[in-house]
Amino acid sequence: MKIAILSRNKKLYSTRRLVEAAEIRGHEVHVLDHTKCYIVNQKQEPAIYYGSEKLEGFDAVIPRIGASVTFYGASIIRQFEMCNVFTTVKSVALTRSRDKLRSIQIMSREGLDIPKTAFARHPDDITNLIKSVGGTPLIIKVLEGTQGLGVVLAETQKAAKSVIEAFWGLNTNILVQEFIKEAGGADIRAFVVNGEVVGAMKRQGKEGEFRSNLHRGGSSTAIKLKRSEKTAAIKAAKAMGLSIAGVDMLQSERGPLILEVNSSPGLEGIENSTKVDIAGKIIEYIEGNAGKKNSLKDKV
Ligand code: ADP
Ligand code: GLU
Repeated sequence: MKIAILSRNKKLYSTRRLVEAAEIRGHEVHVLDHTKCYIVNQKQEPAIYYGSEKLEGFDAVIPRIGASVTFYGASIIRQFEMCNVFTTVKSVALTRSRDKLRSIQIMSREGLDIPKTAFARHPDDITNLIKSVGGTPLIIKVLEGTQGLGVVLAETQKAAKSVIEAFWGLNTNILVQEFIKEAGGADIRAFVVNGEVVGAMKRQGKEGEFRSNLHRGGSSTAIKLKRSEKTAAIKAAKAMGLSIAGVDMLQSERGPLILEVNSSPGLEGIENSTKVDIAGKIIEYIEGNAGKKNSLKDKV
């Protein structure tokens, strides 16, 4: 097969591993910087260019789109879809997954458990808002934040109120969320490929830190998931229409709570901690599905 990996940097661990896994299996791989792809539309002739080269003959595309270029990346993926090229991430699923509130609304509708989460932006609502998620301590999250930046733990009513007011004053959208204390500064990441958990790790924040992000100094170890955690991860990926997903969950007294479903989950942490060839699983998923109609929610 001829496979395109949409990635801005060939040297990134995840990109390198996908190239390696595809080449080992005898495929032709091209790493394309999606920000350098451009598209031209005319009647029934969607085209994609990379510099002066027209991109043709691809069987599959593996998008690795960063959060800062979601709109552009999704547009390029959509054009590949228009050209009937199989993609491991549908454009709609990418867009859906990048909106924290939309993701939470979908999880809630699909019957997945989540930390109780409120969204508002009128100053008169603050007291009720805090009450509605069970009071303090609580978590405040900037809607557009990633890698743990923009996630605040407010311990007291006073702190919560002033942080919420500060964000609103800056015209920033925030979520107000129940704090899951018993998670103990840890979360779990389940890597889902094609409706199966292929690897899982627990990430623990450094001492005194409630955020477990690796970028915030957290560390990760492989874990075996409970059946309820596996089921929740698979269901969450499916609800988002993602056949490849990194599902982040908090372990709570009432069971697993979905935090986030990542559409471009990194391979480095999960492969190093689990020793599973996840890049290989992704290529095998493509081998089994490219050319077939996808059953996930993929209508554009
Ligand atoms: P980001 O997308 O920026 O990583 P997250 O929502 O995943 O933001 O939050 C970052 C980290 O903060 C999580 O991995 C988790 O360890 C911790 N965390 C997030 N929400 C909660 C919560 N409601 N209760 C307890 N810890 C939380
Ligand atoms: N980009 C990483 C992922 O989605 C996040 C890693 C982290 O912040 O812990 O896997």
